[in-house]
Amino acid sequence: TTYLANEDRYDSMVYNRCGRSGLKLPAVSLGLWHNFGDVDTMANARSMICRSFDLGITHFDLANNYGPSAGSAEETFGRLLKSELSAYRDQLIVSTKAGYYMWPGPYGEWGSRKNLVSSLDQSLKRMGLDYVDIFYSHRPDPHTPMEETMGALDQIVRQGKALYVGISNYNAEQTKQAIQILKSLGTPLLIHQATYSMFNRWVENGLLDELEEGGAGCIAFSPLAQGMLTNRYLTGIPGDSRAASSNSPFLKEHDITEEKLTTINQLNEFAAGRGQSLAQLALAWVLRQKQIASVLIGASKVSQIEDNVGVLNRLSLSSEEVEQIEAILK
Ligand code: NDP
Repeated sequence: TTYLANEDRYDSMVYNRCGRSGLKLPAVSLGLWHNFGDVDTMANARSMICRSFDLGITHFDLANNYGPSAGSAEETFGRLLKSELSAYRDQLIVSTKAGYYMWPGPYGEWGSRKNLVSSLDQSLKRMGLDYVDIFYSHRPDPHTPMEETMGALDQIVRQGKALYVGISNYNAEQTKQAIQILKSLGTPLLIHQATYSMFNRWVENGLLDELEEGGAGCIAFSPLAQGMLTNRYLTGIPGDSRAASSNSPFLKEHDITEEKLTTINQLNEFAAGRGQSLAQLALAWVLRQKQIASVLIGASKVSQIEDNVGVLNRLSLSSEEVEQIEAILK
């Protein structure tokens, strides 16, 4: 049966302006890093994309290398765009990235103009799109002049292959430089995609201030610390979880230490006291920063997306609550 989007989908989602741009992002966005590859099932991918859109999630985040296999998440998403979402293209913000390893030889990764332009052309083909809404330099390249990488982003916008540009994993100093160069080229930096959660707070150390000053927004990736800041691991390591998966390079069973579990349990109790799930508390905590336009979640099940969007029922945190969380995290 043909998918018809829920008519109420814009009634409860919150949309935040991204930096000082004209673009608004949903407070919760969905990333396709895991669970949308050719090793995963299309039916589940379809359910998660359609349910997300029905909940007001207008932003889907990809990268050239998401899968596995690399490129297959873009193919999955391309198929779903065509079969389910083709009527809604103008209601969607689709992003992709280049920078990590994609193909052999000197042009298959990093930040040269050659890599960025070729990789985006491949991504557009895989997704069946004429343009993406946001194109990112996925990581800084110490061996390519920043002027070249930013020049490639500017060129891509002028060619109509992307509407806005972003950077990811750049430190505060590199971000300052990128903002200046892009400004001088006339293509302002829209967004920085940075990891940020209760368990990884590096952005508080200068990056958020730099973005504020430069007028760029921030989207926080892995806001649930890949699932640790949810009820996923409260009673052990489930067989279908990311920590147990052989496709998970960055979350392993040994990352879930006794010490972390103690903190997770305390946070879970604190969340329950607010009448929300731990995932919802963790997302509200990230969204308390004014620079953060959106939390970029991942999911393996529709129910997780529903739980996460439930953050909107109790978004605000008092300064007293923030202090109490601070005490738990110490
Ligand atoms: P999260 O921190 O949101 O972790 C997602 C995982 O947590 C899910 O796959 C699921 O794991 C579990 N989970 C999510 N919600 C719930 C819930 N309500 N209850 C229980 N478990 C839950 O984010 P990701 O690490 O997946 O990253 C999100 C996105 O950020 C990526 O898809 C990608 O778009 C982007 N990203 C960008 C990077 C960059 O370098 N720019 C790097 C990494 C990510 P399980 O599988 O165990 O069910």
